[in-house]
Amino acid sequence: MYPFRHVATPALLVVGLFALGLPAHAKWLNDQQAIMGTVVQVELWSEDQGAGKAAMAAVMDEMRRIDRAMSTYKEDSEVSLVNRKAAEEPVTISDELFDLITRSLQMSELTGGAFDITYASAGRLYDFRRKIKPSEEALAKALPAINYHHILLDREGSTVKFSQVGVHIDLGGIAKGHAVDRCIALLQARGIKQAIVTAGGDSRIIGDHHGRPWIVGIRDPRQEGKVVAALPLSDAAISTSGDYERYFEANGVRYHHIINPTNGRPVNGVRSVTVVGSDSTTMDALSTSVFVMGVRKGMALVERLAKVEAVIVDANGKMYYSTGLMRR
Ligand code: AMP
Ligand code: MG
Repeated sequence: MYPFRHVATPALLVVGLFALGLPAHAKWLNDQQAIMGTVVQVELWSEDQGAGKAAMAAVMDEMRRIDRAMSTYKEDSEVSLVNRKAAEEPVTISDELFDLITRSLQMSELTGGAFDITYASAGRLYDFRRKIKPSEEALAKALPAINYHHILLDREGSTVKFSQVGVHIDLGGIAKGHAVDRCIALLQARGIKQAIVTAGGDSRIIGDHHGRPWIVGIRDPRQEGKVVAALPLSDAAISTSGDYERYFEANGVRYHHIINPTNGRPVNGVRSVTVVGSDSTTMDALSTSVFVMGVRKGMALVERLAKVEAVIVDANGKMYYSTGLMRR
């Protein structure tokens, strides 16, 4: 978890203030693995090395469990099953998935529909690895299926149903944050008081680092390995959404993974959004939402929310800070 060692993937570079150049302290343990199509990292303080290592293994198991349930890349995931069946009939789902879809719908309401897990009705037609984008016809056909109101939840029966054919959901904008929160809860249940858990652009910190805050760097959206800002953080969740995570370029246009639900196309105007608050589930969905909403509307939403701050880098590289950060 040291800077610049793994610059290829994370949106955030997490730097322990005293970690640089010093031998790792015996009681700070860390692990890093490729899960959820990204890099999962955990670093924690434990008096007991054995217990610390067991806690890190539990974090990785939990990440893999959630990935198996929620990935749309896995045909046998619970979410893939829902996407295959829910237009035909109500599908019984786990409490965990039910709650995360419920949370997603709340975020849709909060963001005026900028956050919408049915974006996938059109979003699934892009393949960023193979540089494929939908034809205009295919996009127009898919568009009516994007609308979070198409998702019908029945709490009593614990089911989800889609109100029309063509609706697909993808929890890629919130599942990593959820996973980070679950892992932090799991560490706390094991008595861990100082830790950081990261899944791609989503991190959550409990406690501090050697009696000081962690210094979390926000990466330059156009220059890997460079940092545009650094924030001191303890007991906080931070999430970055960027147009550099999954993208390809064609005819001078950048096609990336954050989709405007109103037209099914990648969002213009912003390169990255970082939000800081208390829980990772909310911050994950919020960073994606603010990205979709753009600088003006997105920052206005952040200012309305208590105890949430943001740093936005726009399409020209200009940076915007929420007022709470300016006061620091
Ligand atoms: P993040 O990694 O948090 O920036 O979220 C980006 C991911 O969220 C994408 O890879 C998609 O899986 C998903 N996503 C894209 N656009 C939207 C949207 N408008 N609402 C909800 N999720 C989205
Ligand atoms: Mg996000």
